[in-house]
Amino acid sequence: MLIDGGPAGTWERVLRPRLNALGRPLEAVCVTHLDADHIAGVLGLLATNVRAVKDDGLAPPFEVRRLWFNGLDLLRAPLLSTADAVAAASYAQGRDLMTHARQLRLEGNAPFGGPLTAGKQAELDGLTVTVVTPHEKALHRLAGAWRAKLPEDPAVTGAGFTDQSIPNLSSITLYLAGHGRTVLLTGDARGDDILEGLSIAGLSASGKTHVDVLKLPHHGSANNVAEEFFAAVQADHYVISADGTHGHPSRDTLRWLVESRPSDAGFTVHVTNPISHVHDTLADLQRGRRLEVSIGRGAVIELATRPGPDRLPDRTADHAPYGGSYGRVDIGQTGAE
Ligand SMILES: [Zn+2]
Repeated sequence: MLIDGGPAGTWERVLRPRLNALGRPLEAVCVTHLDADHIAGVLGLLATNVRAVKDDGLAPPFEVRRLWFNGLDLLRAPLLSTADAVAAASYAQGRDLMTHARQLRLEGNAPFGGPLTAGKQAELDGLTVTVVTPHEKALHRLAGAWRAKLPEDPAVTGAGFTDQSIPNLSSITLYLAGHGRTVLLTGDARGDDILEGLSIAGLSASGKTHVDVLKLPHHGSANNVAEEFFAAVQADHYVISADGTHGHPSRDTLRWLVESRPSDAGFTVHVTNPISHVHDTLADLQRGRRLEVSIGRGAVIELATRPGPDRLPDRTADHAPYGGSYGRVDIGQTGAE
């Protein structure tokens, strides 16, 4: 499964060689939302396949079985009502995505019976996929005139969760469970929406969730999380996909994350790219803690059940042969914004 494809350039630089090395079909590709830094790499992948099929009459070089994406019909109204050129560009990319998917005859959201909304579930080759965000009501509200009320409504603007981007508020969060392991992939969703979705999906016990891997929302922006998010969602491996653009990940986010855990808790923070303020902040936070830090070297986290203390080894992608079974999370250098 591939969740998002990174910004322009990621397809040729990182994603294409990685998929070539893996050499197996993608059961599902999920585009969490319309922003260019998530959709561009997937467009590169699908456009490569379309060129091979349409122009050269060949089989697609990178087999993709299904595309999960909350279609433009739900997002058209807010995007067209804004004068924001970035949103307009995102809309055009979303339209291209739909065109490519039709040309390649990809199955869409059928396993979920329609748009991916909180609480829906699908089975995929031994993996249970549960949608955590967006909430169905939020998606429909976003698609209508209700947008104008967003900033003043305390129900949707919780303290500390200040991201108001329309595409981000519709971002898909997926909870994956299989072989006794769990992964929470949050796109650019907002922390309070994720907490609500975990509750709707029955994935939080007394308001708390523990996963093997948490991909932080919105590249570690402090606008999408608060201390309460990290108190409620904890992980053995925290992954931050960012390259320092917009100050992501934020120093506050790193501090909230680390300080949410007792000093003797063993966990690892993975950051996809070297960023000086991240290096310094995490080095400070590491003092007196068992926190491990991995910056800019990629990793493969094994999720297959294995006995022994090294059941979740971190290794650089270059040294990790593909085992051919379910249960790995590849952390590349694909982050942006
Ligand atoms: Zn993003």
